[in-house]
Amino acid sequence: MNKKVPERRCLICGTHKPKNELLRIVRLKDGSVVLDKTGKVSGRGAYICPNTNCYKKAKKIRRIESELGIDIPENIYEAVAAEISEKEDSEV
Ligand SMILES: [Zn+2]
Repeated sequence: MNKKVPERRCLICGTHKPKNELLRIVRLKDGSVVLDKTGKVSGRGAYICPNTNCYKKAKKIRRIESELGIDIPENIYEAVAAEISEKEDSEV
């Protein structure tokens, strides 16, 4: 039996997916922001699909910022983009 993975919803397209299939951006207690690759970082999280469409839209409309109530540094977006291109490459 597979262990049930909790589902989370993409902020952009609204699709529900197991949380380990979404990218999680977390606001830490100290107000900094990280891309959480482990799913174990504690803090307030925002989830988006690991695909270019959701990423671009999130960045354009600043949806993650409004969800977390904080500015997302450019290096976080770069880390997200790198993660997405890695996943998309491996699916080809
Ligand atoms: Zn999405």
